[in-house]
Amino acid sequence: MGRIFIYLVLLAVSFYVVKLIKTRLDEPLKKLKKDASVDDSDDTNNMVRCLHCGLHIPEKEAIKQGDKVFCSLEHARREL
Ligand SMILES: [Zn+2]
Repeated sequence: MGRIFIYLVLLAVSFYVVKLIKTRLDEPLKKLKKDASVDDSDDTNNMVRCLHCGLHIPEKEAIKQGDKVFCSLEHARREL
């Protein structure tokens, strides 16, 4: 009878340990995924259209004059 009790305790402990290890292993992965998703949302390549020539360029590289967007300084000068 005592043996069965010990086996049950060992079983419960091993289940608990496995669960603990699983959550420990999952945590960094979840963090990584979270970070990656955050990076994705930050790094959105929002394309904008040049008002002068109609060229589509990433918003980061665009020249902005108020609410007008241009692909280059030259095009911005020509429109203004
Ligand atoms: Zn342009």
